[in-house]
Amino acid sequence: VNSTHSRLAGLPRIAIVGSGPSGCYTAQFLRKKWPDAEIVIYDRLETPFGLIRYGVAPDHLGTKAIAKQFERLFTRDGVTFAGGVEVGTDLAVDELRRQFDVVVLATGLWGDRTIDGFHDAQGRPSLPGVYGSGRLTRMINAHPSRDSSDVRIGRRTVIVGAGNVAIDLVRLLLTSSSQLVEVGVPGDVIRALTDGPVERVDVVSRSVAGRAKFDVAMIRELAKVPDVRFRSDADAFPVKDAEESVRAQAVAELVAGSPRGAARQVSFWFGWTPAHLDGAGRVERAVFRDTADVRGTLTLEADSVCTAVGFTQAADDALLRRAFEGERTDLDHGRLADGVYCVGWLRRGPVGTIPANRADARLVADAIIADYEFASRPAIPSSLP
Ligand SMILES: Cc1cc2nc3c(=O)[nH]c(=O)nc-3n(C[C@H](O)[C@H](O)[C@H](O)COP(=O)(O)OP(=O)(O)OC[C@H]3O[C@@H](n4cnc5c(N)ncnc54)[C@H](O)[C@@H]3O)c2cc1C
Repeated sequence: VNSTHSRLAGLPRIAIVGSGPSGCYTAQFLRKKWPDAEIVIYDRLETPFGLIRYGVAPDHLGTKAIAKQFERLFTRDGVTFAGGVEVGTDLAVDELRRQFDVVVLATGLWGDRTIDGFHDAQGRPSLPGVYGSGRLTRMINAHPSRDSSDVRIGRRTVIVGAGNVAIDLVRLLLTSSSQLVEVGVPGDVIRALTDGPVERVDVVSRSVAGRAKFDVAMIRELAKVPDVRFRSDADAFPVKDAEESVRAQAVAELVAGSPRGAARQVSFWFGWTPAHLDGAGRVERAVFRDTADVRGTLTLEADSVCTAVGFTQAADDALLRRAFEGERTDLDHGRLADGVYCVGWLRRGPVGTIPANRADARLVADAIIADYEFASRPAIPSSLP
């Protein structure tokens, strides 16, 4: 990378680590401000766009297409993509700080959060047959470092969590092999997902239906999956406000509209907290307790358990955010240390859809611009002649 031009023109040299939505939106805002500045986006993968490529479900083609607008950064806007470089291992952050005026960490959160009772203190599943949703969705999206060899979903699976990623899994696990082939799911992964094939899915949420994390559009989309009877225990709870009512109603409509005699069944269980797993050498049952401590326990037979309870930084992540945090950290504006910023899921946690990262990128780009302009202001003479 030739940085002479930026340096001569008094423009900042900018390195962005991570080419997911937050890194790409940040590059777009900074490019608009500084059309001639050098901007390099690093990614540990050879291919850009983060979770748009390796998270978003492959049957959601419209969402995947968001990547097209980001391609222009590299084809038209003069931003350099440096793929296959893991910052923190292949290239030290200190080295980047020496070469660039601004370093933006946009590395996301890709570690599956674990569940007390279902994982041990080291974060390993307490029995084989438990898979994190991040791992599964990366496999489904043909992530280059996937390993599907030990994955067997079986005929009955329990999905823990009821956010959009959990609902993506419900839909994908009930998709036929031929449709999975059509949307590009690799053969080894299709074998792992359809070895049962899945006949029964139990989706268990710690909160009541009205407060579950799913978007109602995701629930409505499930109605299109053929030959499934949907059931739910959502009726057990009174709804508290209009927003809760919309969610609870979406589930009720899905249940009411589903065919009674369908061969496959999906049951939603609301208000249950994971307790422990049972099984001889492999998971056979998942046990939950009533979150409100009224209804006792719920025991579900399971050939596998898929956990979809959010994401975190994996302990062995090459770049831990906390390593940069200190006295000068101001996470509200994405400042980690002098010249080092964070954006997207790394800044604000694993919540929000792709557009939310645009607002986030604007906020952090504004902070970067303000800091750079402040640092490059002409010095005020200490005394008048
Ligand atoms: C399974 C799943 C499905 C989703 N589906 C949708 C959906 O349908 N619609 C929607 O709007 N939102 C969806 N989301 C949410 C959306 O994907 C996120 O809001 C968004 O991707 C977060 O962007 P990010 O840039 O912060 O992180 P990411 O997209 O995770 O990007 C991080 C990038 O940093 C790179 N990286 C990590 N560490 C390093 C390192 N050390 N050195 C170099 N590069 C590194 C990674 O390879 C990756 O490319 C989904 C999320 C998940 C997990």
